[in-house]
Amino acid sequence: EHLSNMIAAGEVVERPSGIVKELVENSIDAQAQTIAIDIVQGGIESITITDDGEGMDAQDATTAFERHATSKMKEENDLWNIHTMGFRGEALPSIASVSHVFLETNNGSESSAVEISYGKFVGARPAACPLGTRIRVEHLFQRTPARFKHLKSPQYEFSLISDVVQKFALAYPEIRFTLSHDGRTVFQTKGSGNLREILMQMYDRSVAKSAIEIDGEDLDYRLRGMAVQPKYNRATKYFIFLFINRRMVRSYHLQKAVLDAYHPYLPKDRFPIVVLNVEMDAHLVDVNVHPSKWEIRLSKERQLEKLIYDTLREALKEKFE
Ligand code: ADP
Ligand code: MG
Repeated sequence: EHLSNMIAAGEVVERPSGIVKELVENSIDAQAQTIAIDIVQGGIESITITDDGEGMDAQDATTAFERHATSKMKEENDLWNIHTMGFRGEALPSIASVSHVFLETNNGSESSAVEISYGKFVGARPAACPLGTRIRVEHLFQRTPARFKHLKSPQYEFSLISDVVQKFALAYPEIRFTLSHDGRTVFQTKGSGNLREILMQMYDRSVAKSAIEIDGEDLDYRLRGMAVQPKYNRATKYFIFLFINRRMVRSYHLQKAVLDAYHPYLPKDRFPIVVLNVEMDAHLVDVNVHPSKWEIRLSKERQLEKLIYDTLREALKEKFE
């Protein structure tokens, strides 16, 4: 059992940013409005996630660390369920198999604390904590030197965490996110629901101000987001943030549709910044995608490429020509 957790951990948790992704998804699934992510030493020393979600009862707080003990409905084709992001109930047991974990949770009627150390249950007791859940993951991979070796510098690991948190902030602008590193707040959103506000946090005022709203739909897809005027992007690369039903995804073809639409409006050595959230029926996504990787397969991909291209091109033509 412990061994299988460690093998699963290799898939779900390769590095601190993967752990942050799983824990933030759990907080979102628990309907949190506010999520604080506190990182020490790039997450190698500790990762603490505090949410104001629905919490767990004492029983669930313990069973959450047993494999496949998910509280979320699971069927093969439920993977892309729009309501929860949880996947097979593997994240917590996997994380707890390779670190020291403290969990405190309060569901409004009881609160409890659970401690697990490298796959071993240490103890559970009643606790006094605010409504919601706090989970602290310490000393990652300290008992698995082969894996510890693959961690890079705290700065690098933190930059990956920061990317993940910014993507969540773009996909969930109505949630308040705070990210701190070694005690210093480095990223914070207000939860206003306003994408422009998030862009301002991530880039600067001119980027945020130049962004135009993207809004398009056809029979299968609804497209919303923001497109930044390229001359305000000072970086020498593009930033294309793609979300499908609010999950961050990677797709060569959809990205190409964005770049093609921008093509006539790109000054030399300037690059777009685009945020696109696609809403669609979950059945149009192939089920055999691996959720920890972000590649996707869509059954009507060409149609979505065209919608992205047409909608963006139209909006850009109007504003930037
Ligand atoms: P999954 O998300 O696939 O269900 P996890 O291992 O990530 O599996 O979590 C196991 C269970 O622990 C969840 O189904 C949920 O019931 C509970 N849980 C985890 N994190 C939280 C949280 N932040 N708030 C409330 N419940 C949580
Ligand atoms: Mg989960």
